[in-house]
Parts: sequence; structure tokens; C-alpha cells
Amino acid sequence: MRIGGIEAGGTKFVCGVGNEHGEIYERVTFPTTTPEETMEKVFSFFQDKEVKAIGVGSFGPIDVDRASETYGYITQTPKVKWKNFNIVGALKNHFHVPIGFHTDVTAAALAESTWGAAKGLDSCLYMTVGTGIGVGAVIDGKPFQGLTHPEMGHILVKRHPNDRFEGFCPYHGDCLEGLAAGPALEKRWNKKGQELTDQPEVWEIESFYLAQALMNYILILSPKKIVVGGGVMKQEHLLPLVRKQVLELLNRYVAVPELTPENIDNYIVLPGLGDNAGLAGSIAFGVNGK
Ligand code: ADP
Ligand code: ZN
Repeated sequence: MRIGGIEAGGTKFVCGVGNEHGEIYERVTFPTTTPEETMEKVFSFFQDKEVKAIGVGSFGPIDVDRASETYGYITQTPKVKWKNFNIVGALKNHFHVPIGFHTDVTAAALAESTWGAAKGLDSCLYMTVGTGIGVGAVIDGKPFQGLTHPEMGHILVKRHPNDRFEGFCPYHGDCLEGLAAGPALEKRWNKKGQELTDQPEVWEIESFYLAQALMNYILILSPKKIVVGGGVMKQEHLLPLVRKQVLELLNRYVAVPELTPENIDNYIVLPGLGDNAGLAGSIAFGVNGK
């Protein structure tokens, strides 16, 4: 079955066609500009693709409550032109096929648990540490949501004693995203993350925040695997620091084999699907109509 997927990101859109087995036949990428211009490119890509459904994994916050009048809208985004844009409505007007819709990180979590690093597990968390921090969860094999989708990138964390940076989240200042996303590195140290590899104090603070977040997710959701991606995780020494601090923080309180020094490398892992997770997961939303 040919299914369309749209990974709708704040900086770029990825559109593709694949199937229910996670195979991707083709994909294109273009920059996110105005909704009109960007959606025009989406429409022309899918025009002759003969897809049976389309799934969207979107930047957010978005409205994922099917009972809501604004289901399918991008809601509170700082990208003003996209604020209150009805992306599902725009697609429905153009293509008469079922449209699936959830967050980009939930898409990645679903793809990783279906085909990637968490394959075969009925729960997993996907965290991206990039321009922002986003976290998606699959619980009992399904995209996790309550009132709306969780916003686990904006949790509060304890300050590192050596950190004087005020944080950059426009809503909360020094929430996790405000202290630990890529722009926080750049604003705190006056250099891009890519250029800070050789400064251990940078990664000591970064891993201090990320490990607290993962500890909280483990305590609250108890996911069977945690997948961590995004630009900042390209620092290869960062994930081992995070794992070590997660174990120290938990202090053997959660007594499962996964949370031991022997097995932690296999519990907190990099994405198995690399850059395809978001698109593959969006296609999975199309398959499920979720
Ligand atoms: P997006 O979040 O827009 O999808 P990315 O996941 O690539 O994009 O994240 C971009 C952020 O990650 C930027 O703040 C950038 O400085 C940072 N970044 C990218 N590569 C690295 C790297 N190798 N080391 C540290 N930070 C990086
Ligand atoms: Zn915040």
C-alpha cells in the first residue's frame, strides 16, 4: 500500500512515499517558508503519487484531540505565520484520503519502536536535542497523549551550580529546552555546539540537565527504551556522560536489569533509523490513521 508521509519541521519539510513495512520509496526536502508557499509544494509533490493515506508528524504545539474544534491545527508556535494554521484541513481539502496527525517526535518514537532501535518493544521514548528539545512517547504500542500531546522538553530541572545562563525559552526561561537545546549552548558559551567539542565544562553542564530529564521520564513513564537524537547528540562523548549520570541519579532505586552499568548502553541509545525516523513515523500515522 502506498502511503504518504510529511515531516513538518520548523526549518524544513520532508515529504515522502512509503509503505506499511517502513520502506521509503522516495523523499524530497524543502525549506519551511509561509504556509501558502510550503503547502503548495506539498500539494504538487503528492499530486500524482496515488497514496491511500497521508500521515503528518508536525512541529508544535499542535492540537491532536480529535474531538476538538481545532483538531489538526498548529497552535502556539513562535513561527507566527503558522500560528493557528489548519494543516490537516488544508490536506483534506486537497486529497480525499485519511490524514493521520501527531507531533514530529511522536512520529520518530513510533518509527523507532516499529522498525528501529526499539523494534519489538511496546513502549519507547524519543528525545531530540536540537534547535529545541522535543520528546515523543509510544506507550502500549500507541502514540501517547492525554489532554493533548505531552511537552516533556519544557520540564523544570535543577540548576547546575556553575551555570549562570538565564535560559532562552520564551515561555519559561530556564526550563530544560531553555537550558540545554542547541541555542542554549550557543548563547551560554558564545560559540555553536559544533565548536565546543573540546571543552569538558560544556558537556558536564549539558549532561547534568539531560540526565535529570531522562531520570524523570524513567520514573514517570518507565519506557522500555529511550532513543536520543538531534544535532547536539552528534557530540559522541555526550551520550556516555548522560548514561553515567542517569545511573548515578537513579542510584539503583529502579531495580531492573536495563538500568545497570552493564546494560545502560543498550537502554539509552541513538536512533536506529537515523534521519528517516520522522518521515517513517509520519508514514506510520498514515497507516494507522492516527
Ligand atoms: P532541528 O532541531 O532544527 O531539526 P538539529 O537537530 O540539527 O535541527 O539541531 C540543530 C541544533 O543542533 C543547532 O543549535 C546546532 O548548533 C546544534 N548542533 C548541530 N550539530 C551539532 C554538533 N555536532 N554538536 C553540537 N551541537 C550541534
Ligand atoms: Zn520552556
